[in-house]
Amino acid sequence: MSPITHFLASWIVAAKTTDNPRDCRLVTLAGLAPDLDGLGLVADVIKNTINHTQTYDYYQTYHHSLLHGIAGAVAIAVILAAFGRQRWRVLVFALFTFHLHLLCDLLGSRGPEAGDLWPIFYFGPFSNYPMWLWRGQWKLDGWQNQLISVTLLAWCFRLAIVQGRSFVAVFSPRADAVFVSTLRKWHAACLMKWKSRAT
Ligand SMILES: [Zn+2]
Repeated sequence: MSPITHFLASWIVAAKTTDNPRDCRLVTLAGLAPDLDGLGLVADVIKNTINHTQTYDYYQTYHHSLLHGIAGAVAIAVILAAFGRQRWRVLVFALFTFHLHLLCDLLGSRGPEAGDLWPIFYFGPFSNYPMWLWRGQWKLDGWQNQLISVTLLAWCFRLAIVQGRSFVAVFSPRADAVFVSTLRKWHAACLMKWKSRAT
C-alpha cells in the first residue's frame, strides 16, 4: 500500500497503544520503516541521470527484499525501542505495526498489470523461502486502497476531535495543537449548523 496508508494505519495503532508522544511517534515510524528499502530508487534516478540510462536495478533488487521480512522487523523494532520511554511496549507494538505493513503490502501493492504481484520474502534478504504471495492482490492505486485510506483518515480525524491528538504530532507537537484546535472548531461549527437546521 502507499506510505500514506501505512502511516495512517500505524498511527492509529500507536495512538491506541502508547501513552506519550515519543512512543507514539516511534511505533508509527516502525510501520513506515519497511519501505526504506525502496530508497534504492533515489540511487537509480541519480545513476540514470548521469549515465542516460533507464534501469532501476537497486529498486528492483532491494525493495520488498531487504526490509520486508523478520530480520528487518527485529532490527527496526530494537533500534526504535532503544529511544522509547516504555521500551518493551515500543518493541512489541513496533513489531506489530511493522507486520501490519507487510500484511497491507501482501493485500494491496500490485502494479498496473495483472501479473505485477509483490511477494513477501519473510526471511529476506537471507533467503527467498518462504515466498508469500496472494494472487488476488489488488492494485496499489485500486479503489480498495483508496477506500481504506479514506476510512483511516476519517478515523484519525475522529480520534483528533475526541482525544485531542493527531498524526500531525509525529512531525510537530505545536503544529498538532493548531491542527486539532482547527478541526474541533470546524466540527463544532458543523454540529451547530446541523442542529439549527434540524430545529
Ligand atoms: Zn512496503
